[in-house]
Amino acid sequence: TRKKFVAGNWKMNTTLAEAKALGAAVAKGVGTDTNVTVAVCPPFPWLVPVGEAIKGSAVALGAQDVHYEKKGAFTGEVSPAMLIEAGCKYAIVGHSERRHILGESETAINHKVHTALEEGLSVILCMGETLAERERNLQERVFQRQVFAACAGLTDEQFQRLVIAYEPVWAIGTGKVATPDQAQEAHAFVRTKLRQLYGDKIADTTPILYGGSVTPETTAGLMSKPDVDGALVGGASLKADSFVAIVKAAG
Ligand code: 13P
Repeated sequence: TRKKFVAGNWKMNTTLAEAKALGAAVAKGVGTDTNVTVAVCPPFPWLVPVGEAIKGSAVALGAQDVHYEKKGAFTGEVSPAMLIEAGCKYAIVGHSERRHILGESETAINHKVHTALEEGLSVILCMGETLAERERNLQERVFQRQVFAACAGLTDEQFQRLVIAYEPVWAIGTGKVATPDQAQEAHAFVRTKLRQLYGDKIADTTPILYGGSVTPETTAGLMSKPDVDGALVGGASLKADSFVAIVKAAG
């Protein structure tokens, strides 16, 4: 059985003082003994101070993005090695806001997944359809394309550090959470494809998280589904009480 995984994506929010206080409150609420893997993903400049704030707890640190080259003339970008040195275990890759607002391509995402895993990070790979795609019933084609473009060429060892997050774009920040059945259907499709392409071990061990308007109230229903292994939480991760309640409801 797969351990549940809850990650908070703070996006471009929090002052330094808010970030430190939020990290400390999440660490306190989660404690050291939990049956859920927990991570928080603050903005880049707050990684080190939030890392200090969560030290000694079961909460791990993640970044919201990472560059696809290891070093060099890439103004404004952040390398996997920098993230590791800043205390990160995880990096989110291919969030829909980066795909749709910042124009990140599937080639770039595949390159980022490879470099991050090669350099020792674990990757939370985001995928999911837009409302227009769902209205035309194209979601499964989108899942297949996004997941398999992103994962092309990974080794079995690298797959052990890959987490997939299904985030339907119509559910992100809208308050319109997918129903547990909608999430289950999407996750089961992705897992079946993983099985066909990469075999039982990868299909059975890869966590598939749901993201999009997750709240403490909706968590237990989503987590009751066999292929929903956790949550990637945006808005509700900015309040320690809500985020900790989601962690508890997932456990
Ligand atoms: P919300 O929980 O605010 O809908 O955001 C989801 C998300 O995009 C997490 O990465």
